[in-house]
Amino acid sequence: MQVHLEAIKHPIFKLIGEAADELGVDAYVIGGYVRDYFLKRNTPKDIDIVAIGSGIELAKKVASKLKGKPEISVFKNFGTAMIKHKDLELEFVGARKESYHRDSRKPVVEDGSLEDDQNRRDFTINAMALSLNASNFGELLDPFNGLGDLDEQIIRTPLEPGITYSDDPLRMMRAIRFATQLHFNIELKSLQAITENQERIKIVSKERIVDELNKILMSPKPSIGFSLLHKTGLLPLILPELTALQGIEEIEGQRHKDNFWHTLEVVDNISETTENLWLRWAALLHDIGKAPTKKFHKKIGWTFHAHEFVGSKMVYKLFKRLRMPLNEKMKFVQKMVMMSSRPIILSEDHVTDSAVRRLVFDAGDNVEDLMTLCEADITTKNPKKQKKYKNNFKIVRQKIVEVEERDHVRNFQPPVSGEEIMETFNLKPSKEIGIIKDAIKEAILEGEIPNEYEAALQFMLEKGKALNLKVKSE
Ligand code: ATP
Ligand code: MG
Repeated sequence: MQVHLEAIKHPIFKLIGEAADELGVDAYVIGGYVRDYFLKRNTPKDIDIVAIGSGIELAKKVASKLKGKPEISVFKNFGTAMIKHKDLELEFVGARKESYHRDSRKPVVEDGSLEDDQNRRDFTINAMALSLNASNFGELLDPFNGLGDLDEQIIRTPLEPGITYSDDPLRMMRAIRFATQLHFNIELKSLQAITENQERIKIVSKERIVDELNKILMSPKPSIGFSLLHKTGLLPLILPELTALQGIEEIEGQRHKDNFWHTLEVVDNISETTENLWLRWAALLHDIGKAPTKKFHKKIGWTFHAHEFVGSKMVYKLFKRLRMPLNEKMKFVQKMVMMSSRPIILSEDHVTDSAVRRLVFDAGDNVEDLMTLCEADITTKNPKKQKKYKNNFKIVRQKIVEVEERDHVRNFQPPVSGEEIMETFNLKPSKEIGIIKDAIKEAILEGEIPNEYEAALQFMLEKGKALNLKVKSE
């Protein structure tokens, strides 16, 4: 018998054990908390407690013993209860036995023993429990040798994997997500079972799938997850836009790169420099327009004309299909996809001030994110080119700062307003006003005049004259 007092040294565990003893039930901390303790990951704030009896009764008892009498949320239908206490989220459930129907991942449940409850857990590393009752406080119950699997860094199911994944296909996503987060392997039998059950992902709600995708994307090396999704055949069922990027075609000796594997490299690259989930999504989707726009021209070879525009349109459809938010987050991803080639052109050519001004003008406050995306997009294996592109981006970044300090074109506000133009030339709302406003903006972006009132006013008068407009007499 192994005892791990260190894992449950937080006073809350003793208190839960006392509450359980008073009710005469056994109680255990189980799942993610126990796993993460042995992995020496950050101690999780969500703690799962299983009672051999009523989880709700135990939660009530615990709440009554806690200072400040915290509120409990009871979910009667699920037989669970939650207590938020300081920074902890305690989730209580009664031990249960589950049986599944073919068309739903929601099981029929009945009361069960600890063993039943451990059997229904997804992975051996998530099925370990530590006892909280005084008589065996800290005892580890690990019937599937989860500890050994943590050591071997392997994702394995407690029961037959075919049944485990077919019962609840969300577990396929969870297996791949844990493999990505923890940098673990998935047992071969499990991988095969996932491949065999790929179609069953259809009974999982989009929201749950996206939750897992987000966790994969927020991992240190998301490509692990996406290549597993690819390998098991789940990817085309979830994100067919990505699968469509796979492959290299060759015509008349001309080849293009494999944009799927390229994309995964870009996502890994960007994950080293940003924790922004939506920027990581932008990296994942930045090339999706390349599949539908791919063409071969005898003279110029492979082209992906307007793929940024087509890709940004696809972002909307993809977000909608996956029931992702259709708000400013989506618009941000669209904008990043739309602009994803802009700085690259700059980095290849001579970098002019006016090109940088236009970039800052169009990207606005997202210009740094856009630069981060484009730098991550450098995946050339040619060290000379790699160095050159990186260096040019450095120059672009420098220029952005200079141009910003001097010209303030980010969140551009016209220095001369439409009203003032109307007033000066005694105009009613008309197309001339738009023409003059545009000309001023262009002159500023081209660097012909500074972004200042006096210069813009002077320019406006000249432009008016050229349009045969008369200045209103005082
Ligand atoms: P994290 O909180 O980091 O996502 P976790 O392991 O705590 O990891 P939760 O989703 O919080 O995951 O679930 C808590 C526990 O419940 C898991 O450790 C596992 O034992 C069990 N569990 C969760 N989802 C499933 C599932 N779909 N099938 C079987 N067991 C599950
Ligand atoms: Mg958890």
